[in-house]
Amino acid sequence: VELSNQIAAGEVIERPASVVKELVENSIDAKATQVLITVQQSGMKSIEVNDNGKGIAADDVEVAFLPHTTSKISNGRDLFNVKTLGFRGEALASIASISKLTVLTSTDGKSAVKAKFSGSELVKKETFARSIGTTMLVEDIFFNTPARLKYVKSLHTELNRIVDIVDRLAMGHPEISFRLIHEGKDLVWTSGNNNLQQTIAGIYGRTIASHMFQFQNSDPDYEIQGFFSKPDTTRSNRSYISLILNGRYIKNFQLTNAVVRGYGSKLMVARYPIAVIDIKMDPSLVDINVHPTKQEVRLSNEGHIGDLISDGIKKRLSQQNL
Ligand code: ADP
Ligand code: MG
Repeated sequence: VELSNQIAAGEVIERPASVVKELVENSIDAKATQVLITVQQSGMKSIEVNDNGKGIAADDVEVAFLPHTTSKISNGRDLFNVKTLGFRGEALASIASISKLTVLTSTDGKSAVKAKFSGSELVKKETFARSIGTTMLVEDIFFNTPARLKYVKSLHTELNRIVDIVDRLAMGHPEISFRLIHEGKDLVWTSGNNNLQQTIAGIYGRTIASHMFQFQNSDPDYEIQGFFSKPDTTRSNRSYISLILNGRYIKNFQLTNAVVRGYGSKLMVARYPIAVIDIKMDPSLVDINVHPTKQEVRLSNEGHIGDLISDGIKKRLSQQNL
């Protein structure tokens, strides 16, 4: 079992940021309204995710760490219809198989369970106390699979990937407060008050967020809200253009270009804006013909949605005489 978990882990858990992603997605699935992520040494030493979600019942703690095939998903299209992010049922088993993991969880805010695993093995289980919710502490990842360490890049790169994941999950969930602390320093801290602009402030900082313009452009099928920087506040690559579709961060080449197109000739050569575009549409019109774990998503009517985005930006800029 441990070996098969480690093989599965190779696919799901490539680096510290994958641990962060899986744990935070579980917190979101558990209906948490506050998620605190505390990281040491870019996650290589430890990653702790603390949430106020519904918790795991004492009897289910071990079960949660067994690979289970929950067939919540049967094809790619379902991905945008399912209510939860987890669907493979192997993340916790995979993480436990390549780390030292401690879980502290309570479903009622009275009794809690603390369990320790090391490389898939339960080494300790005791009763404890804590408020409703779950804390997962993952230490020494890849301690027993040193070969995987060669895929880990510099600590700087790994930390950037963690920040990236948290940024994306936070943008998709303005109703949840996310806080990311790396070695005592706050890197992300969103309000959780369901306001996208304030969420952006928690990610890119208040100065950038408060100088962004907003547009809204909807037609019967698509509801689009966007925040975008002034033409003089730009970055050297497209990675500051974020697309959120029905609460999920996606990548889409054509829509990213539509953001740039909205600026016309107002951007300097090789400069790209900071933008967050939030798209709500009928999930059945989302055409996923890619692997479910990939973020690149195709949409029927991409051209039309792109026009709504670029027109929205163009109009708003001309209102400002920019
Ligand atoms: P999946 O999310 O695909 O079901 P995971 O291995 O990620 O599989 O999690 C296994 C199970 O453990 C989840 O289905 C959930 O029931 C439980 N679980 C994990 N993390 C949490 C959490 N933070 N709060 C409540 N339940 C959790
Ligand atoms: Mg999961």
